[in-house]
Amino acid sequence: MKNSSFRIAVLPGDGIGVEVMEACLAVLDALQKRVGGFALAYERVPGGAHHYRDTGDAFPESSFAAAERADAILFGAMGWPEIRYPDGTEIAPQLDLRFRLDLYAGVRPIRAIPGVAPALADPRAKDIDLVIIRESTEGLFASRGKGEVIADREARDTMVITRATSERLFDYSFRLAAQRRRAGRPGRVTCVDKANVFRSMAFFRKVFLERAAAHPGLAADTHYIDAMALDLVRKPWTFDVMVTENQFGDILSDLGAGLIGGMGFAPSGDIGDAHAMFQPSHGSAPDIAGRGIANPTGMFLSAAMMLDWLGARHGVGACSEAARLLEEAVDGAFGQDGVRSADIAGRHGTADVTRAVIARLA
Ligand code: ATP
Repeated sequence: MKNSSFRIAVLPGDGIGVEVMEACLAVLDALQKRVGGFALAYERVPGGAHHYRDTGDAFPESSFAAAERADAILFGAMGWPEIRYPDGTEIAPQLDLRFRLDLYAGVRPIRAIPGVAPALADPRAKDIDLVIIRESTEGLFASRGKGEVIADREARDTMVITRATSERLFDYSFRLAAQRRRAGRPGRVTCVDKANVFRSMAFFRKVFLERAAAHPGLAADTHYIDAMALDLVRKPWTFDVMVTENQFGDILSDLGAGLIGGMGFAPSGDIGDAHAMFQPSHGSAPDIAGRGIANPTGMFLSAAMMLDWLGARHGVGACSEAARLLEEAVDGAFGQDGVRSADIAGRHGTADVTRAVIARLA
């Protein structure tokens, strides 16, 4: 019999992470009632900057163990500008989790939501529907905590690209493109790099082209990162799946979120072969925390990605169906019911957006 009961590690974290998580759990409860056929058991897991301030530990080993044994991880946001490690770096357990659980594929869908005015005036901007896959365990971030400053004269951080991770990353990208093609999208993967300058990036591209040859039914092309910064603004509706190095993906995914209404609308999944974590692309947003105006949409769409991933992995159709319904409820709330969150100059706070989405699920 298929297991349709899932343990979800819930990590609200800091700032608006806590607020959007609370909203998300209410939506997930409504969704379980509506769809039936699957059950989510939440385990709340402490961690984050405020936890560090209170206990001296940003992410206890017991929290890591809870995340590791869960069927999926639902993450709000962690970090706070004024609370830092003694060396001045920010508290970011999400980066440690990506490395320790080998969550190599950072999947960031950039999809225009009906009713939310896109940043670009071109009417084709309403058709934006692409996915940025950011490698999340190596690249320039491999140097995190290891960079050196030599005698206050020179500083170095090193980019690391491995064949093993790149192959898995590209294969994941082609599998996603195939899945999207079945749903009517082009089924094309674009590798974004700087192969004309760096050996590491030329190697990244070489491995990409090898893996592209192993997926002959799907289109593959390459783009330099600087040209992509241009084209993501000039004609974002022409892209399908793009895959890139960690630091490049970090930057492009914020640019992508800007195209579709801002950080509040952008979901993400950090996916590995054995574990997966889902979180909105935004951070803890200290400037608006505690005011009840955070847009929970990115969190809701991340939860939809989690359900879709659980459904596919465990063969539970009810989860996949719930994912689809949740996306539709978000689209309906903004596209038909006139919901306008504060980040797009609307008057609806976190609770209003949540109520509207739950009403759609009733
Ligand atoms: P991090 O480095 O942790 O990603 P950050 O400081 O780069 O965080 P965010 O915390 O994502 O950035 O915030 C960037 C801006 O976007 C802030 O002005 C914030 O208020 C706004 N913002 C982020 N998320 C939301 C949201 N869900 N709703 C409304 N505004 C948001």
